[in-house]
Amino acid sequence: MNAIACRVVAIESLTPVVNKVLLAPAEPVSFIAGQYLQLCLTPTDKRPFSIASTPADTLLELHIGTPAGDSWSSAAMNHIQHHHSTNTSIMVEVGLGQAQWRQHSERPIILLAGGTGFSYVHSIAMAIAAANYDKPVFLYWGVRHEEALYYATKLKQWADTHSTFHFIPVVQEPNASWTGKIGLVHQAVLDDFSSLDTYDIYMAGPFAMAGVAREAFAAQGGHREHMFADAFAYI
Ligand SMILES: Cc1cc2nc3c(=O)[nH]c(=O)nc-3n(C[C@H](O)[C@H](O)[C@H](O)COP(=O)(O)OP(=O)(O)OC[C@H]3O[C@@H](n4cnc5c(N)ncnc54)[C@H](O)[C@@H]3O)c2cc1C
Repeated sequence: MNAIACRVVAIESLTPVVNKVLLAPAEPVSFIAGQYLQLCLTPTDKRPFSIASTPADTLLELHIGTPAGDSWSSAAMNHIQHHHSTNTSIMVEVGLGQAQWRQHSERPIILLAGGTGFSYVHSIAMAIAAANYDKPVFLYWGVRHEEALYYATKLKQWADTHSTFHFIPVVQEPNASWTGKIGLVHQAVLDDFSSLDTYDIYMAGPFAMAGVAREAFAAQGGHREHMFADAFAYI
């Protein structure tokens, strides 16, 4: 796959450990909502990040989490910051993965995100809205703390303006004021759907979450051929 040069247009802090990065590709890029790109630190050191934007957007948007002690993502973020401050290009390979939105499926959709796995479901959610999709869509976003729900306002608007769209945030360790769902995000799905038989399920987040969710959803009627996650290739 050809690597494409991109200018780092902006870096914005979404939370103390998550940055939004906007990239301007030097040439048109082709991908499907839900695919990822690889950031080329060197010609052989390439790191995957979900594309949060949709193919209709001019800029590529990334959400990069750098939790304390995570050298894998910190090195990627340092690379981006260096090229932003020196106004030089980074190289990316765009349009990877097998977990992209199946636009022609007639099945209702569950989007499951753990932490920064939200980037992946954001792309699909925005593409679905632009396509005037009329089937039910349930977007579950699980985080450890409420403060990590950095796009909650946008997602509430997404749900408020489409009667068939539903946004369900799930917090693992809530503040006393939290009135929403509590616990692990895949458990919230299991609690809400007695059978997952009819659903297409798209998921991204920690690999452990993807593995646990796939088995639990299959036990509750979900079909493996209707569950999509690039994490499955890694576990
Ligand atoms: C193809 C690909 C694309 C990637 N794209 C990105 C990207 O765009 N940005 C990025 O930062 N990283 C990316 N990564 C790396 C990796 O997926 C992230 O590091 C991971 O999603 C980070 O999760 P978190 O720390 O935000 O979640 P956490 O804060 O650890 O967890 C969030 C929620 O997930 C659920 N969860 C967590 N652990 C478990 C468990 N053991 N069992 C059940 N549920 C659990 C819980 O509901 C929890 O509240 C990518 C990796 C691959 C392979």
